[in-house]
Formats: sequence, structure tokens, C-alpha cells
Amino acid sequence: MTYLFETEEHATLRSSVRRWSATHIAPHSAEWEENEEFPASLYARAGADGMLGVGYPESAGGGGGDVTMALVAGEEMVLAGKSVGVVAGLGSHAIALPPILKHGTPGQIERFVRPVLEGRAIASLGITEPGGGSDVAGLRTTAVRDGQHYVVNGAKTFITSGTRADFVTTAVRTGGAAHGGISLLVIEKGTPGFSVSKKLKKTGWWASDTAELHFEDCRVPVENLIGIENAGFLAIMVNFTQERLMIAGQCVAIAELAYRESIQYARDRHAFGKSLSGFQVTRHKLADMASRIAAARALTGELAVRWARGEQTPALAAMTKNVATDMCSFVCDQAVQIFGGMGYMRETLVERLYRDARLYPIGGGAREVMNEIISKAEGY
Ligand SMILES: Cc1cc2nc3c(=O)[nH]c(=O)nc-3n(C[C@H](O)[C@H](O)[C@H](O)COP(=O)(O)OP(=O)(O)OC[C@H]3O[C@@H](n4cnc5c(N)ncnc54)[C@H](O)[C@@H]3O)c2cc1C
Repeated sequence: MTYLFETEEHATLRSSVRRWSATHIAPHSAEWEENEEFPASLYARAGADGMLGVGYPESAGGGGGDVTMALVAGEEMVLAGKSVGVVAGLGSHAIALPPILKHGTPGQIERFVRPVLEGRAIASLGITEPGGGSDVAGLRTTAVRDGQHYVVNGAKTFITSGTRADFVTTAVRTGGAAHGGISLLVIEKGTPGFSVSKKLKKTGWWASDTAELHFEDCRVPVENLIGIENAGFLAIMVNFTQERLMIAGQCVAIAELAYRESIQYARDRHAFGKSLSGFQVTRHKLADMASRIAAARALTGELAVRWARGEQTPALAAMTKNVATDMCSFVCDQAVQIFGGMGYMRETLVERLYRDARLYPIGGGAREVMNEIISKAEGY
């Protein structure tokens, strides 16, 4: 199935991303997942081949198009590459670059955005802290102005691509308490006082590296401030809305992959003298999976179109994220059930997808936090 908004251009993009992912990711995905890392050279390959710049303006080194193109490219990369971890790692720029593109100066866009889209640098986003991620307004990493520098102290955790990022778009406290004192600073690798404190081991997304970062009297030049001082909270919230759209798209893709694997297995596997798909209960499981994927795809497509039109839709994004993540958890669980014991074995893709899916009701804003956003918007 495809999104309702898709045109010839999306179809062309789908086939080129499919070919690229089948060549450069799929043959290695199982090995990279087990190694808990993919080679850094893949960023360079993806950048050179235009895979990282889909949906980004050509003036910044991207390939043009809008968020609907990025959604479709992300889906094909999951379907054909068969590693959610690789797609998450390669795609960490999708959460790190938009605030720079939107609020950065032309000089900052040249310094930070272009090299990443061209595969010459790796970008991460640093919002979450060891003390908490949901309460962004309460973040504790401080950045105190000292002449032409900010002196940064604090820590960030669960940072995707954090072990090898060339820079981190970092949320810091430059002002008073709560949301009015938050800014975004680009902190570059090699800045004295910035270190990777550890690489984290995870339930899923094994091929993507995830890190805890430490800042101790780290002097960051004031020219690395993105936008206006103390105005970072709104930029972070807008960025979250786009992230939630991309997360919903990833959930649709993961579920679609688990569904396709399940159809094949249900046809091939036999029990009691017939194929699993010969049992009505299996066919109905598959029908439920298909129906829920279709529903989540429809909502995700609507959100994408609204976002591409420039509508600010935080509540719709929160609803879409919850619908898509719940759907993905359900579908991956059903896929494991259809596979039986094999669904619990590391050699099957559905076992990995089941683990990967567990992140989505947490990452990019927990399910409960989404419901708070919806409640506020609905005015209960
Ligand atoms: C694999 C992975 C990759 C990630 N990548 C990044 C990244 O690149 N950059 C980044 O900045 N962060 C990243 N994160 C962090 C992620 O966004 C946070 O984990 C998430 O926002 C939740 O924050 P927390 O883990 O601190 O949970 P907490 O804030 O400690 O919340 C814990 C739980 O409490 C409940 N809860 C919290 N608030 C409320 C509320 N208001 N009402 C009701 N219940 C509530 C929820 O059940 C929630 O799951 C990543 C996380 C993972 C696991």
C-alpha cells in the first residue's frame, strides 16, 4: 500500500530508495544489528547518493521536495533495508537539522546542514537528560555566557548517533527556570570539555549507536547559538511535531514489513496438515494487521499533508504518534505469534522488529505525554 498523496515523483523516489537500500543495507543488516553498529562510511555513501537530503532544500545541499518525500523514502529504507537500527542511525540528522534550517543563519546552514546532507558529517540532537526527558522545560544542562563563549555543564542521554556525531544540536538552559530559559546550541566534537561518557546497550535498534554525553566547563562559541537566546523551547516543540510524524511513518513501515513476513510464513508453514493461512484464525489475524496498518497510514498521510502545507498540528501529531505506535506494537506482536517459536529466535526478522517496536511509545515523547498534549488542545 502507498500513501494517498503519492504522485509519480514519489513512485520514482520509492524505487530509487528501494534499489539503494537493497544494495547498501539489506545484505549487511543482520550482521550490523548483531555488531550493534554499522560502518560510519555508510553516511558518506548515503550522502553522496542523495539519500540523506530527501525533503531538504537544494540551497542547503538537499535534494528538494517536502516532508511527504522524506516519509516515503524512510518507509522504503525500512522495507528494503530490513534494519530499523540502520535507518534510525542514518536518519539522526532528521531531528538535529530542522531547527538549524529554520532558525539558523545562512552561515550556520553552510557550516552545519550542508556537510551532513552531503554525508561529510554526522549530526545528533541532544534534548534528553539523565534526570528526565519528558519534562523538557525542566532541563538542567546550563550554558553561562562568558565573553564570546557559553560555558556548558551537564549531561545528555539516549542520544542517537551520539558516539560519533560531529556535532550535537543541544538544548541548554541559558536563562531562568522553566521553558523561557532554554536555548539551542550546536556543540562540536573536539570542543574541550565535551565527551562521550558511554555507549548504551539497548532492547532494539541495535545497529544505531546511542550515547550518554557529558559537558564539563565546555566553552562553546556564541556563534553556535541557534536563533534567539532563551527562545529555544518553541523551536524544540515544533521539531518534536515533525519528529512525531516521522516516527508514525517508521511505525507504518515496520508494521508493513512484519505483515509481509507474516503472510509469507503463514503460507509456507504447515500444521495439522495445512498451511497456517489455511486456518481462519490466522487469516483474521492478518486481516486485523492489514486493517490497522491502513488506518495508521491514512492518519499519518493526513498529518504529512497538513505539515507540508505549513499547518501547526501538535495535537494531530500526538494522536498520530499514539495510533501508529500502538498499531506497530500490535502488529509486531501478532507477527511473532504467527511465527510461533521461530518468532522468538534471533534469526527471524520479526523477532527483531518486535524489539525495535517497543521504543516507539517512549521515544520522541512518551504515550502519556502525547495524551497530555491532546487533552490540552481539546480543553478538557
Ligand atoms: C533508543 C532511543 C533513542 C533516543 N534518541 C534520542 C535522541 O537522539 N535525542 C534525544 O534528545 N532523546 C532521545 N531519546 C530519548 C527519548 O525521547 C526519551 O526517552 C523520552 O522522551 C522519554 O523520556 P525519559 O526516558 O527520560 O522518560 P521520563 O521522562 O523519565 O518518563 C518515564 C515515564 O513516565 C511516564 N510519564 C512521564 N511524563 C508523564 C506525564 N506527564 N504524565 C503521565 N506519565 C508520564 C511515561 O510512562 C514515561 O515513559 C531516545 C530514547 C531511546 C530509548
